[in-house]
Amino acid sequence: MSVLALILGFVLWVNRRLKVEIAQREKAERILHELTITDPLTGLYNRRHLVEHFPRMLRSAVREHKTLCFALMDIDRFKQYNDTYGHTSGDDAIRRVAQVLQNTMQRGDDYCYRLGGEEFGVLFKGATPIQARAQIEQIRTMIEALQIEHKRSDIGTYLSASFGLIVRTADDIQSFEPLYKEADTLLYRAKAEGRNRVVVNTD
Ligand code: GH3
Ligand code: MG
Ligand code: MG
Repeated sequence: MSVLALILGFVLWVNRRLKVEIAQREKAERILHELTITDPLTGLYNRRHLVEHFPRMLRSAVREHKTLCFALMDIDRFKQYNDTYGHTSGDDAIRRVAQVLQNTMQRGDDYCYRLGGEEFGVLFKGATPIQARAQIEQIRTMIEALQIEHKRSDIGTYLSASFGLIVRTADDIQSFEPLYKEADTLLYRAKAEGRNRVVVNTD
């Protein structure tokens, strides 16, 4: 074998090794990034992902002349639930509620988030106010249907959640923060009006 062939073989080998190493590093970076945008208790996306992803979702809804729908959800009387059944049972309940969100919001463009504590977010696009309400109502009733006993709740026999939902033409939305604040106000109304309900901005 000539020296040239040896050198060529060596260069090809180095090239192959480099490609493998780059692929491994890219995979590690992807996994690391997934971890930074995932809530460890539920496996849902976290608040950071919502803040990062929202502008892209808004832009695509504007392009497609669609509505953007954002629901803020908070479990009812959850402090009392923890006090009654313990923190570990509380964590289990949070996981099961998160599973309902994941099972209900199944389209490629549906996103569910655990935003902290017992507060969650749902982001999707293209629904009319009636469709969006029906979607969120489905989540609400499925959480009740889990029949997670909450005997010291003044709301009902089982664990429930309240929702503030905004459905709006994407063109009329500027940014995430004001939308979030508005959803929070609607959620506050849902709590004040008796909890275990959905309040929509069109109400
Ligand atoms: P409301 O119906 O007004 O929402 O009442 P609430 O008791 O749910 O509201 P509050 O904000 O007073 O309590 C939230 C509680 O959620 C406080 C804390 O005990 C519980 N909590 C927050 N994060 C976690 C968690 O990660 N695990 C568990 N088990 N409990 C949590
Ligand atoms: Mg809360
Ligand atoms: Mg709560």
